[in-house]
Amino acid sequence: MSENDLGIKIGLEIHVQLTHLKTKLFCGCSTDFRGKEPNTNLCPICMGLPGSLPVLNEQAVKDAVALSFALNTQVQSKMLFFRKNYYYPDMPKNFQITQYDKAGGVPFSVNGKVKMENSKEIRITRLQLEEDPARLSYEGTIDASTATFVDYNRAGISLIEIVTEPDFGSPKEARIFLDKLRSIVESLGISDGALEGSMRCDANISLKGGIRVEIKNISSFKEAERALNFEISRQKSLIAKEIKVKRETRHWDEVRRITVSLRTKEEEQDYRYFPEPDLVPITLPPELLDKIKLDMPELPENLKDRLVAQYRISIANAKILAENKEYAKYFEQCGKIYHDANEISNWVVGDLIPSLAKRNISLQTAKIPPESFCGLLKLLDTGQINRSTAKTVLDEAIDSGKAPDAIVRQMGATKITDETTILQIVNKIFEEKPTAVQAAIKDPNAINYLVGLTMKATKGQADPKVINQVIRMKLEAG
Ligand code: ZN
Ligand code: MN
Repeated sequence: MSENDLGIKIGLEIHVQLTHLKTKLFCGCSTDFRGKEPNTNLCPICMGLPGSLPVLNEQAVKDAVALSFALNTQVQSKMLFFRKNYYYPDMPKNFQITQYDKAGGVPFSVNGKVKMENSKEIRITRLQLEEDPARLSYEGTIDASTATFVDYNRAGISLIEIVTEPDFGSPKEARIFLDKLRSIVESLGISDGALEGSMRCDANISLKGGIRVEIKNISSFKEAERALNFEISRQKSLIAKEIKVKRETRHWDEVRRITVSLRTKEEEQDYRYFPEPDLVPITLPPELLDKIKLDMPELPENLKDRLVAQYRISIANAKILAENKEYAKYFEQCGKIYHDANEISNWVVGDLIPSLAKRNISLQTAKIPPESFCGLLKLLDTGQINRSTAKTVLDEAIDSGKAPDAIVRQMGATKITDETTILQIVNKIFEEKPTAVQAAIKDPNAINYLVGLTMKATKGQADPKVINQVIRMKLEAG
């Protein structure tokens, strides 16, 4: 059975943490909790103590507007916050302040669409602002642990929840969308997808128009694709055995790479949503929306198109450069220094980015400014070094921060093509190795030994073709 025959329908629910905000959604506590002492960034508001009053973070609202525009959703001009009531240790108040209410509450924005590479459109159902619950951790696995640890430092951090229609036809397509979403939020400067748990995802999946199964607790986008692939094989084998797929919520166990049943439809909770009485309704004035629209940074899609049009580089290269604003900026800076944009894009995409990835460093921490990088391309362009030397020099420049021409001088790596220079070296070898010369006169195959000696004497920097010519010339001359 191919994936199409399976009639796969996948919908996603993504939580994006607004990691660039300094304070939480409703209080002044720091959002800097990663690697910090647990339960230190707390106050009566995010601990939900009686009498404390939430105050909405204005920047979080502006970020939600910007993301709404980027996903082409319609922003509601008036909106409310709701209490989603549930009793669980990750919520000190026993309710989450959120925006969606199944009884008809108004989310932040609705009815968007995102265009995929194959020009298919993914519909965005809604987007809403809400607070992150606390972080729970266990000793080893969830079922073997004798205790649950709660860190309330995460409780109250701003989240944007994005819900899509079940428009994805495969786990791969869902993954592509998730990566696209990551590059959008990064280009808006509202979240850093590289931070652990900053973008989390739940998914629902059905086969052949059957029952919808939800998968919860997926910690990263790579895991999302894995979880969905597992769920497809699980449901496929149930269908093959004519066992009914149950409507249920399943948990993705990252360690065992399987989904396990969490709860069935019958146990589904009623959250008893009601309007949050401690927060006033929000009204977004049209002037504010206009200003945010005007100040929108260039989104990856537009950036990609512009790079192709302006620099005539390949779409494939432009796409990779546009996914990360830092790469695109670097490429454009190099474009001002060096004439060949295509060559720049090939080296940035094909060599620089992989070299950085290998070292697990970013462009900012790498010690290779655009001037150095372009200096390398100039050395290559003028034939002073060959491509393989250039790669070595690039690595050295990234690690040491030295200028490529300085590195080349130090390595003595300048490519020798000059016949006179090579002749001088060959002359010396002929004097030192008369027997090898005699052997080469008798047997043309023995010439390789002399070529090898010359290569060695030039530390591999001389052109073997020229060496060959020079040696043959000398042998013929006697
Ligand atoms: Zn607080
Ligand atoms: Mn949520």
